[in-house]
Amino acid sequence: MDDIFTQCREGNAVAVRLWLDNTENDLNQGDDHGFSPLHWACREGRSSVVDMLIMRGARINVMNRGDDTPLHLASSHGHRDIVGKLIQCKADTNTANEHGNTPLHYACFWGQELVAEDLVTNGAQVNICNKYGETPLDKAKPHLREALQGIQHPITLQCWQEKEKAEKLGQSLTKVPFKDTFWKGTTRTRPRNGTLNKAAGIDFKQLSLLAKINENQSGELWQGRWQGNEVVVKVLKVRDWSTRKSRDFNEEYPKLRIFSHPNVLPMLGACQSPPAPHPIIITHWMPYGSLYNVLHEGTNFVVDQTQAVKFALDIACGMAFLHTLEPMISRHSLNSKSVMIDEDMTARISMSDVKFSFQCPGRMYSPAWVAPEALQKKPEEINRRSADMWSFAVLLWELVTREVPFADLSNMEIGMKVALEGLRPTIPPGISPHICKLMKICMNEDPAKRPKFDMIVPILEKMQDK
Ligand code: ATP
Ligand code: MN
Repeated sequence: MDDIFTQCREGNAVAVRLWLDNTENDLNQGDDHGFSPLHWACREGRSSVVDMLIMRGARINVMNRGDDTPLHLASSHGHRDIVGKLIQCKADTNTANEHGNTPLHYACFWGQELVAEDLVTNGAQVNICNKYGETPLDKAKPHLREALQGIQHPITLQCWQEKEKAEKLGQSLTKVPFKDTFWKGTTRTRPRNGTLNKAAGIDFKQLSLLAKINENQSGELWQGRWQGNEVVVKVLKVRDWSTRKSRDFNEEYPKLRIFSHPNVLPMLGACQSPPAPHPIIITHWMPYGSLYNVLHEGTNFVVDQTQAVKFALDIACGMAFLHTLEPMISRHSLNSKSVMIDEDMTARISMSDVKFSFQCPGRMYSPAWVAPEALQKKPEEINRRSADMWSFAVLLWELVTREVPFADLSNMEIGMKVALEGLRPTIPPGISPHICKLMKICMNEDPAKRPKFDMIVPILEKMQDK
């Protein structure tokens, strides 16, 4: 069968949909040149495939090995409708590839006039130099150059007002020199590593454990390498490891290999270490650690309101996806320790923090994020989707207050007081009224009245624009 890159290139929507339905497939992987499925669909003008990939969470500003984004390819090839879709999904119109060329450079060079105009109308600058000192205007034929110069540009308009420049119409024509090192806020595709996606069962001999990061009651956490990947290896502590537990492990871990959503961090694979077997799971190393690390222990950066909303949106998208799975992942609990932050600041729900059936069943790990009804009833008696929404509300609270929920109480006290004494996070003054309102809706005492994740995604998207 053809691979996903070919399917996208050829616009085979049915095959692409089937491929996307398999959760082990990573839609943000790249081929040998780092082209993602979205790159190919955009290059070849496959609109319906583009729609599908975007809907399933393809990264818009993803780059191939030459730092081209899907917008570069759609612009070069004159696929105006796709350029429009990408812009609508907040594609960066001024992103430069390895030559310093922006999508507008290519639209101008290839004479894609309507595309060039659309790009400029949406913020593309006509005067950014590539590495060779050429601007998009330098690449355009004379009549296109004139047309583009006439388009009012919101960003440079501001610059004029600041600088009180005398030019009356169009963008500033002063060349903006090429900047090599500015952070683009985008990321490359993940390398397509055959073994990564196929071999769920890992050979313990191929794992190198480099440094122990942590040890707690559930096991040891090591930083390591596996097949050229920086990984985290968790060696689980289990009492009385039996063939029964071993069989459960082999049945449960493959369900956690979810590669198909950018806001879910899959478990890469698992094995059982000799001699006295310990179950071992491995996952990608996340440079920023968990959301909890970032919010409460990190010194690297401050999570401002914009970043907080972005994290909330990432988490909501990931949860909306997990809630489409039938059956849902068992024993997953949402809290800031089970959300990891990727190198591009994307929040991803960690599948390696899902518990196994043999890990202290009945133990409540992070009660501060658990819905009151879930603290009181058996798992099968509650609506897990509604309970997850409560956990999300506590995360929202944590994101905007930047505090640990019920920091002054022990887990035992939190469990008791939330379940029996009506203890709830209190919303301090000064929080944005939009977020405050959302938090209250998600933390409704009646589980049935809480919204679904796919309902709050658009609300968070709107907040992002503000
Ligand atoms: P639990 O055993 O219930 O999951 P925990 O999350 O506190 O408890 P660990 O999972 O061992 O304990 O994690 C220890 C530390 O390592 C945490 O600070 C966590 O953020 C960090 N960590 C976990 N997974 C990764 C990862 N994939 N990349 C980078 N850091 C990680
Ligand atoms: Mn953990």
